[in-house]
Amino acid sequence: MPVTRFAPSPTGRLHLGHAYSARVTRELAGGGTFLLRFEDIDHTRIRPEFYAGIEQDLHWLGLNWSGEPLRQSDRLDAYTTALEQLRQQGTIYPCFCTRREIQAELGAMAAAPQGPEGPLYPGTCRGLSSQQTRARLDSGDLPAWRLDSTKAAAITGPLSFADEHHGTIAIDPDLLGDVVLSRKDIATSYHLAVVVDDAFQGIDLVTRGEDLLPSTHVHRLLQALLGLPEPRYHHHRLITDEQGRRLAKRHDSLAIATLRERGLSPEELWERIGL
Ligand code: GLU
Repeated sequence: MPVTRFAPSPTGRLHLGHAYSARVTRELAGGGTFLLRFEDIDHTRIRPEFYAGIEQDLHWLGLNWSGEPLRQSDRLDAYTTALEQLRQQGTIYPCFCTRREIQAELGAMAAAPQGPEGPLYPGTCRGLSSQQTRARLDSGDLPAWRLDSTKAAAITGPLSFADEHHGTIAIDPDLLGDVVLSRKDIATSYHLAVVVDDAFQGIDLVTRGEDLLPSTHVHRLLQALLGLPEPRYHHHRLITDEQGRRLAKRHDSLAIATLRERGLSPEELWERIGL
C-alpha cells in the first residue's frame, strides 16, 4: 500500500494547481496512506494563517489526510544531522559568495554553466583551501553549504530513478550544479529537507509537478549519499492559466478560497481542471 504526501508551503492559499496535485496524490495513495507536510523552513516567506487556510481548502475539496501534519520547522535537528553526515563524507563545502558576487562572476565568464532554470553556481568556493575557509570563518563570515556534485557522483556511481509517468531516468549529477543544501540564514534547504523527510515519513511514492523533475536528480543523489531508501516518483502535468503560464501565488483569482467564495462547488472546480 503506497504512502504518499502532499507538501505545500504555507506562503499562500492553495490554487488550482495545488488542488490538482493534492488530488492526484490522494488518488495514487489508493487504500494506502496520504500525508500532509508543511514545507515551512523559509520563515521569511511563511505566514501563520496559511496553515489553517490550507487545511480548510483541502477539507473543502474532500481530500483528508492521515494523522497530524508534519511541519518542517519542527525538524531542523534532523536536517543538521544529515548535513553533518555529508560534511564528514566531504561531499559539501562552505560557500561565502553573495548573490551579487555570483552574478558578477557569471557575467565575466565566456560560457557560464547553464541549468534548466538558468545559470548554475560557477564553483567559486569549491577550491577554497582549509586555511582560506578558516580565515573567513574566523572573521565572522557565515557560509552556505553546497553539494559538491562531482565528488558526490564519484562516490555514488551512476544512478537513476523510476517515474510512473516518465519511465526510468538516468540522473545527471551536474544538472543543477552545486546546489545549496544549507542556506546562510536557514540551516537547511528545500532539497535536503525533502529528502530527509520523505525517508522519515516512509514515503514510497513521491507525487508532484513536472516542474520539480530537475530537483529529483539532486534528491536521488542525496538519498544515495545519506543511505536513505529510494521512493518511486510520479511527476504529473502542470495546470496552467489561459496564457499557458504555470499557476503561482500571483493567481489570486484562481485560489480555491476565492473560487469557493464565488460559489463554485468542488465538482465544478474539478471539472475546470479536467478531472
Ligand atoms: N513544497 C513544494 C511546493 O510547494 C513541494 C515539494 C515537493 O513536493 O517535493 O512546490
